[in-house]
Parts: sequence; structure tokens; C-alpha cells
Amino acid sequence: MLVVMQNHATPDQIDRVVKTIEEMGYAARPMPGETRTTVGLVGNDGRVDGSRIESLDGVAEVIHVSKPYKQVSREWKEENTIVTLAPGVSFGGTDIVIIAGPCSVESEEQILSAARAVRDGGATALRGGAFKPRSSPYSFQGLGKRGLELLALARRETGLPIVTEALDEEGAHLVAEYADCIQIGARNMQNYSLLRAVGRIGKPVLLKRGMAATITDLLMSAEYILAEGNGQVILCERGIRSFDTTTRNLFDLTAIPIVQRLSHLPMIGDPSHGTGLRDKVIPMARAAVAAGADGVMVEVHPTPDRALSDGGQSLYPDQFARLVIELRAITSAIGRSVASTPPMSRQALPGTAAAARV
Ligand code: PEP
Ligand code: MN
Repeated sequence: MLVVMQNHATPDQIDRVVKTIEEMGYAARPMPGETRTTVGLVGNDGRVDGSRIESLDGVAEVIHVSKPYKQVSREWKEENTIVTLAPGVSFGGTDIVIIAGPCSVESEEQILSAARAVRDGGATALRGGAFKPRSSPYSFQGLGKRGLELLALARRETGLPIVTEALDEEGAHLVAEYADCIQIGARNMQNYSLLRAVGRIGKPVLLKRGMAATITDLLMSAEYILAEGNGQVILCERGIRSFDTTTRNLFDLTAIPIVQRLSHLPMIGDPSHGTGLRDKVIPMARAAVAAGADGVMVEVHPTPDRALSDGGQSLYPDQFARLVIELRAITSAIGRSVASTPPMSRQALPGTAAAARV
């Protein structure tokens, strides 16, 4: 339930609404807006009687949120949520953000070379897995903490903020120490204790759609994070399983405008996992941006043939650079633009002592 206050409601009147909600046994979340404040009632089981609140001074109206997800819905919050990873790197506004990098962090040389290549190609953020959720326990599982240290080194070298996956609660705390955004992968989209944990940590979260998850499932999972007080959530379409094995997954482009209609959270597309095929990544990245995505995440590797994971869907650096040029043309046709590459920090400028080592 959402309590919309009148434009001129006083702080005392807002406070009275909050106290009344608490007396009724629920939590209240005041949300000051540009013209008026709304107060959300959290923990609503659908049977709350709004009449007690409706009659309080300063209340304009009481809205019952019809969706099973509440705080994630546009009924709850009409304007887009902006999720910021670093100065100038924000999702949900006019600019689209390009997250690029290898599937996994493999070595210092590999991640630095990938980071420099995607930066030169026009990326806005760097991806790379240190903890890898692999289908087989015998496949490369990632470098763990060392991988995070290498990502931090790559950030110092290039200025690109880091997006990297956490597999469990303990890993999420570690990832939060190093990264700018915690990725929750498709396999963990319904790991509710992990969702609650990243909700409590409070860092931006990139939540990927599960491979057999409906759009409602995705939004319900995001609700777990918001319910813990963390509104900095980016949603990501990365393909769902289908009967057709021609592609690795079925990249559900329609999910992009659907989610954007249902939710105020930013929504991006990952055509690398969405297709699993290098030559299909480029057209589907273009399509995701044309469909209105707030960003794309693409896998790029300096030497895809030697990649320890997902080489077959990783772009060569020159392909990535061409893709960014095309994405710029598409964004300008739809009144948007590609976020510029963040400035290199002073210490990261080539030739300075600090640039040499973390
Ligand atoms: C990844 O981004 O490397 C990854 C494992 O993605 P997903 O969770 O979508 O499979
Ligand atoms: Mn991958």
C-alpha cells in the first residue's frame, strides 16, 4: 500500500502517517518526491484496511499496489531509478552503459589487456568473473580473491568501474570490498538468502534473469533486494532456455520493454549469454539497444580461442570497438547516447609511479 501525501503536507503530518503504519504492525518507508512525499507500507499482505490512514491530515490518497512485487513496481515509484556505479556511470537515464570484458578473470596479463582493449573500444564498465558458476565442477571455477585483486588493478589502470559475480553470502561481502557492482547470476536469481544478503550490503546489484524464470519471477527476486532497503538494482535479460538448441539460449528481447513498463529499475541486455554465439552477439546487442535497454553487457576477450570460459561467445576487441560505433548510431536515432568512458584517475595515467602497481 502506498500513501500519497498532499503537496503541502507538513513533516509532522508525514510523521503521523509513519507512526500509524507502525502502530498497525507494518514498516513505513517515506519517499520524498519532487512535488510530494509518498509513504510506502512494507510487509503488506493484501488485507490492510487503509481507512485509518486515509482520514489522517495531509493524506491525498491511499493506493493499493496490485502487483505481487511492490517496491519494484512503477505503481510504487513512477520515475526511473538511476543506479550509479561511479561518477558518470549511471543506468536508467538517457545514457546507455556498456559493460564489457572477459567471462572470467584468468591472469594479470589477460585482464589488463582485456580492460585496456574495452576501454579503448568505448566501454563504460569492466566485467570479469572471479567466482564462476560452472555447470561442471571440473571446469575452471575462477581465481577467487586473487581475481578480485586483479580486477581492482585493472580499475586503477583504466578507470573503469567493476562488475563481478558473487556466488554466496560470504563471497558477496568479499566482492563488495573490491567491486562497484555485485552481479547475481542466472543460476542464483532465486537464491533468496543471497538476495537478502546483497540487499543488506547496499552496493549496486546486477540481477540476471534465471534461465527458466518468468518476468514476474525476476521482479519478485528484485523485490527481495529492495525489501532489505537496497534500491540500487539493475535487471538483466540474458536469455532463457528453449526447446531450440540452435542458440545457447533464447534471448528474450521483449522482456526489455515489458520490464521497463512494469518497473522503475533499469533493464539491460546480455546478448553474449543470450545467444552463446559470437556472430550473433553483435546483431542482438544492436537489437537490445534499439529495444530500449539501459545498457548492454558483452563478453570480450583478447584471445577468445584461448579463453578458459565462454570463448565461443566472446568478441574480439576490434569487433567490440565496431559494435560501440554502431551502438552510438542507434542511440542517437532514439534520442539517447552511449555513456562516455570514465576519465582515468590521475594515478592511472601512464608513466606515473602509482600506475605501475596496486
Ligand atoms: C556471466 O555473466 O559470466 C554468467 C555466468 O552469466 P549468467 O549468470 O547469465 O549465466
Ligand atoms: Mn560467461
